[in-house]
Amino acid sequence: MAEGRKRTIKAATGSGREKAAKQDKKNKEIIAGKSTSGLRVGAILLWVLAIAFEVAAIYLLTIKVDPKFMLGLNQSTWIIVAIVLDGIAVVAGSLLWKKANRSNPCQSKNKVVKFLWDQMGVIAALVAFIPLGYYLLKKSDKLNPKMKKIITIVAAVVFLGAVGGSVDYAPTSPEDIEEAKVAAMEAAPGFDGVVYWSPFGKSYHVDEECHTIRNSDLEFGTIEEAFEFKREDPCDFCVEQPEKEALYKEKQAAKEAGKEVEVEVEEEASDDEMIN
Ligand SMILES: [Zn+2]
Repeated sequence: MAEGRKRTIKAATGSGREKAAKQDKKNKEIIAGKSTSGLRVGAILLWVLAIAFEVAAIYLLTIKVDPKFMLGLNQSTWIIVAIVLDGIAVVAGSLLWKKANRSNPCQSKNKVVKFLWDQMGVIAALVAFIPLGYYLLKKSDKLNPKMKKIITIVAAVVFLGAVGGSVDYAPTSPEDIEEAKVAAMEAAPGFDGVVYWSPFGKSYHVDEECHTIRNSDLEFGTIEEAFEFKREDPCDFCVEQPEKEALYKEKQAAKEAGKEVEVEVEEEASDDEMIN
């Protein structure tokens, strides 16, 4: 086991071990804020783009456009394309927003503010679909009834998908991150702010030699970064039960030592044979 394939251990954000380790109490909030502002800007741009597609869909719903501008497709098809792009842009923006909230949650103690902040993607979905729904149901006389029905169904399905993909089902609170830090410090007395996770695992680890990730490639970063990458679950061993993990390692070491002794004995035996 010890000489398994070489694993790689790299920084989650390419920031380097030193930077991650240096991210102490004093500057953690500033750095976390900085690292998520890009995500938030991206989210807002995508939501603006979604609203632009909505406006395009409304325009096509209400105004008869000369077919020569339709690139060979009929106007109803373009309406459906605009509605689908509207939904995709809403959800893409919401995913960035939720990711930013993982590592840098809303600090407000006000429950309403926190709720609105966490569920900003849902608000974006409402803004990106309610006016469209209004125009579709009330102002689309130019559409033939059959097309209107199809477009309404598409819009309803895309709207539900956009809301479903935008809801933050388990928002992170600042307390979650604080609790995680306390747990990490208790588990590892020399905790330097760096945690580890594997590409497909859902836990974060304080010990890069933890037996559950011994043979995995690893990424490391701050606890905020672990949360950002959806590793919000403390490892059952190295974080939750460090004593158990230590015991496991002792046993494992004894086992390996045992094997080495056996090997040595064998070698000695063969030496003996050679002598004899
Ligand atoms: Zn672990």
